Amino acid sequence: MEEECGRGESSPRYAGIATFMRAPLVRDPAKLDIALIGVPFDGGVENRPGQRHGPREIRNMSSLIRAVHHVTGVNPYALCRVGDMGDVAITNAFDLEASHSDITGFIGRAHSAGAVPLCAGGDHSISLPIFRAIAADRPVGMVHIDAHTDTCNEELGSRFTHGTPFRRAVEEGLLNPERTVQIGIRGAQDSEEGLAFSLESGMRVIFIEEFTRLGAEAVIAEARRVVGDGPTYISFDVDSLDPAFAPGTGTPEVGGMTTIEAQALLRGLGGLDLIGGDVVEVSPPFDPSGNTALVGATMMYEILCILAESVVRRKKSNGKATK
Ligand code: MN
Ligand code: MN
Repeated sequence: MEEECGRGESSPRYAGIATFMRAPLVRDPAKLDIALIGVPFDGGVENRPGQRHGPREIRNMSSLIRAVHHVTGVNPYALCRVGDMGDVAITNAFDLEASHSDITGFIGRAHSAGAVPLCAGGDHSISLPIFRAIAADRPVGMVHIDAHTDTCNEELGSRFTHGTPFRRAVEEGLLNPERTVQIGIRGAQDSEEGLAFSLESGMRVIFIEEFTRLGAEAVIAEARRVVGDGPTYISFDVDSLDPAFAPGTGTPEVGGMTTIEAQALLRGLGGLDLIGGDVVEVSPPFDPSGNTALVGATMMYEILCILAESVVRRKKSNGKATK
């Protein structure tokens, strides 16, 4: 596996075809426990685009990511079969809802084969079609790290933009709002209807001011209380970070998390029953240094480590890879 992955000492990290974290390219999800998937789509953006280029640049920068976690000692590649399943084939890029169907189809193929998806976006609208693929049989919980609640009703005439996915997911019975925590929220709004939906539906909303006051450890405890023991998804919008750390995104909001806070927050979610995750809104055209793509790759690795532990726990308790 190690040799196939090209992560061994013998192969320089700058060489070869770029895959996520130098994992093997495996098109058949039946051969995987965790499928790393690119979703090159930004048709749900209402302002600054470019997130369609996210997967390619995250793959490139992720060649810097090594195997063994420096804090937890976890090596996800030793725990389970991790591979890059490639990009969702967007067959009708000019049609938002048809593109979402492409995403649901591709992620559904991974889910049906027993592979847990960890996706790189793409704009945040992709989380809804991912939920349609993996949460159709029961609503799931979510730890949502973002500057924005993404629970608006519509933007510019569409109900399926990157500002609306989690309202639709609740309405479609895919997301349990009472097992949802939104962390890092900030920024002035033109309307309070999105936040009102989050609060009225029962989501726990942690503004950045509360995050800063409580600190990562207490926020982790609160997030764990909210999502509990049930199946839980992690959605990480890179604009949760302060633009000083992640400028390459469509909707930057100053006054955000530091990278080390976000890493600690994700790591603190270890032990939850995790069923998938995404890192979204990296926009390479606004990221001339490539640092935002590196940040995205690093957050993806943090999620991969705790996801791998979840997969192993489920294997031990169920005798099968995924649920
Ligand atoms: Mn978002
Ligand atoms: Mn956001």
